[in-house]
Amino acid sequence: MFGPKTYCAVVLGAQWGDEGKGKVVDVLAEEADVVVRYQGGANAGHTVDTGATEFILHQIPSGILHPRTICLIGNGVVLDPETLFTELDQLTGQGIDVSERLRVSDRAHLVLPYHKLLDAERDKSQKIGTTGRGIGPAYEDKTGRRGIRVGDLRHADRLGDMLAGQVERVNQLLGLLGSADRASLDEHRELLKRLAPRLLPLAADTGLLVYRALAAGKRVLLEGAQGALLDLDHGTYPYVTSSNTTAGGAVVGAGIGPKALDEVIGVVKAYTTRVGNGPLPTEAHGAEGDRLREAGGEYGATTGRPRRCGWFDATVVRYSVRVNGLTGLAVTKLDVLDEFAEVPVGVSYRLEGEPCEEMPADLDALGRVEPVYEMLPGWRKPTGGARRLADLPPQARAYLDRLEDLAGAPIRYVSVGTRRDQIIAV
Ligand code: GDP
Repeated sequence: MFGPKTYCAVVLGAQWGDEGKGKVVDVLAEEADVVVRYQGGANAGHTVDTGATEFILHQIPSGILHPRTICLIGNGVVLDPETLFTELDQLTGQGIDVSERLRVSDRAHLVLPYHKLLDAERDKSQKIGTTGRGIGPAYEDKTGRRGIRVGDLRHADRLGDMLAGQVERVNQLLGLLGSADRASLDEHRELLKRLAPRLLPLAADTGLLVYRALAAGKRVLLEGAQGALLDLDHGTYPYVTSSNTTAGGAVVGAGIGPKALDEVIGVVKAYTTRVGNGPLPTEAHGAEGDRLREAGGEYGATTGRPRRCGWFDATVVRYSVRVNGLTGLAVTKLDVLDEFAEVPVGVSYRLEGEPCEEMPADLDALGRVEPVYEMLPGWRKPTGGARRLADLPPQARAYLDRLEDLAGAPIRYVSVGTRRDQIIAV
């Protein structure tokens, strides 16, 4: 990935999330000096299988598993300090020392227990399918210009006033929503008093750290959470997350300029999944969907929720190539298709009998499109041992070639299993 012309690369999900970004980032982080998370919060769950141990990371960049890598949580992230410290303690317990290698933006907004109370209450009425971790309400506070940022912990007086105002507001809202729950000001004060001495030593101007690293010729990897179709602007609104998951969000959330990006890699599954509500045109219902779900272990890393499964949707990935400016694709979970005799690929849509080549902005239209499928022959051989394209069965290679043609971006990596070594660099 990195080389004389590539110092800064972003890896992001190019479908609806859960594409296996954690694994791809983990593999690429080996070559990186710095890994940055740029958006989202503890709702993202990256699973990294090192061969010896499986780690699920929600808040800390997956790069932390490499002993040399500096990991940054950027200003675009909303930070749940309790989750952060639980993960830090787990990593330390497993012999991974992190304290000198992790820094958190002092501009990052905090997710506090009152955000979770609001999230739980909202989900009852809005049915967006949130993870209940307070992410949406924390981003609402950020855009509402009343959020509490990591750097505010340095100012105890100001923090006390901000907390009092916020708890009062949240309790009014909870009352309006008909909830009997109330946030406790004392509990919030205690929590921050307890966490501040641990969090503040990690706080830094992370954008400056990235800038200096690039100026010194270091290699920087930006790690996305969720996927492009969950982007607040470009996703299937309102069934989206509360931040910009696409490449533009990467530079804003990491605190660097857009021209710093040399490569934008979109991670796509060899098929499609989605968690929660909203349209999923190529969804496979019934036995085929169940078969994909079982073969791919498609249950959420954070919530355990079964994921909705379907076939590769080229319209989605083409769109993602466009809105992200993808320079390459990493196709994951090819092995999950090993047993299928035939694999359908959604090449485009039809809407009310007319061809439809582009993603409609209108959710209702997207809910009504009919995918146009092409049936490709399966390979019915295990691919998990392949380390070069030439090791793959010809039908699997033909499948990848077709995906590349339809998507309009070159495939740079193919992942054929959960382990670090199960990857092909193209
Ligand atoms: P992320 O948030 O995009 O990293 O995705 P998740 O961690 O939620 O889900 C990806 C899951 O797929 C994890 O359990 C990974 O270990 C697994 N995974 C990643 N790549 C592959 C692959 O090539 N084959 C298989 N079978 N599993 C994979």
